[in-house]
Amino acid sequence: MSNKKTVVTRFAPSPTGFLHIGGARTALFAWLYARHNNGKFLLRVEDTDRARSTPESIATIIEGMQWLGLDWDNKDYTDDKGNKREYYSQYDQRERHRQAALKMIERGAAYYCYASPEELEIMRAEQKEKGLPQKYDGRWRDRDPKEAPKGVKPVIRLKTPLTGATVVEDAVMGKITVENAQLDDMILVRSDGTPTYMLAVVVDDYDMGITHVIRGDDHMTNTFRQVHIYNAMGWEAPVFAHLPMILGPDGAKLSKRHGAPAVGDYKEKGYLPETLRNYLLRLCWSHGDDEIISDAQALEWFNLESVGKSPARFDFAKLNNLNAHYIKVKDDADLVSLIDKELSQCEKEMLLKAMPDLKIRAQTLVELAKSAEFLFHSGAFEFDEKSLKVLNEGKPYLKDILESLKNMKDFTSENIENIFREYADTKGVKLGAVAQPFRVALSGSTVSPPIFKAAEILGQREVTERVSRVG
Ligand code: GLU
Repeated sequence: MSNKKTVVTRFAPSPTGFLHIGGARTALFAWLYARHNNGKFLLRVEDTDRARSTPESIATIIEGMQWLGLDWDNKDYTDDKGNKREYYSQYDQRERHRQAALKMIERGAAYYCYASPEELEIMRAEQKEKGLPQKYDGRWRDRDPKEAPKGVKPVIRLKTPLTGATVVEDAVMGKITVENAQLDDMILVRSDGTPTYMLAVVVDDYDMGITHVIRGDDHMTNTFRQVHIYNAMGWEAPVFAHLPMILGPDGAKLSKRHGAPAVGDYKEKGYLPETLRNYLLRLCWSHGDDEIISDAQALEWFNLESVGKSPARFDFAKLNNLNAHYIKVKDDADLVSLIDKELSQCEKEMLLKAMPDLKIRAQTLVELAKSAEFLFHSGAFEFDEKSLKVLNEGKPYLKDILESLKNMKDFTSENIENIFREYADTKGVKLGAVAQPFRVALSGSTVSPPIFKAAEILGQREVTERVSRVG
């Protein structure tokens, strides 16, 4: 038996917008790490910024996580007032955060600072003039609070060590060091009594028993400050693992400009969640040269050692290839249910029969749905120029063939194909000369899945009607 602590990871989004694709990658890595280690994966909504946090954003984030299949383990969370929530809310814990700051004061690791905003403005202006770094100068660090000016509500600041260095052994980035002299005494609690983000994150991670903080490397610089809070509380810091950024195809930070910034966009564009899981996994993590990695393999293989240090570039062509793969291997009936279209039972059955031929040609569900449209088409098609040309050239053949189609007993793709082959032979033309106009008549276009199979699926009545219509 090993006495290793159970791994607990978390995803801690700020609910101020959609679930960004970069956030989804962070969530995926934290989820995989927990699941790989038979640990727990928790969801914490960092909703302390009341002006920017919205319930809609929380709903979108949850929807995105569910769609991606990243299940979390604190769905039975109940807040202080007994309200059931599906996640831990940072805002709910504000009093606890404040209490932690008071504890640090008690321990001599934090202090009240009564400097007014105006006073600090002057301090910064003076620093600037002298060419010094602009940071809080610790003026209340050792001052007796009895000297506090009347009526001023203080902030609480952390006593950051003045000398030495803080070293973080990041599980991805390696050893990172900062000189403590570079850091000022940060605010833990604002003068209105609200805890700062930096304090809230640390207290929550501690309270939730987080063993591994896996997040984007934009939080790297916060980590040193957070380590100081752990030290001030006398708590053991978790393992930190900072993931490199995701860049757009042009090498700039991935943003709206590159299109599809939100997880919901990918759902809408017809990507499968398994595609996205596989694709996001490969952004900064690798297992040899493997590109197609199943969920089972990902769960078996995922580790922090194989997370790379350099940013990954988003490659839409690769994503499309992966999606084509996952569509191809997906169960036909599942794909039918994913086609976002109102279909009758009979149409669904048709689609199911056609699926093996359709799914091998589609890169997205949107393409798949489009490629199936001809099956449900009613009335005349609108032909493009190329199709019209094919139709005109093939009209005489179609007229002859129509009779044979009408008289067929067993309307199977083999029998239909035989009729076409025999007819082409007797006419001394290539099969395509007869089959291509047939394709246009049935599908409205010169490209379609194998047409004799499609004809069988459409059925004798529909096929003869479509052929007569162009005759
Ligand atoms: N709420 C932060 C964000 O959305 C994440 C904080 C953390 O993971 O520590 O960027």
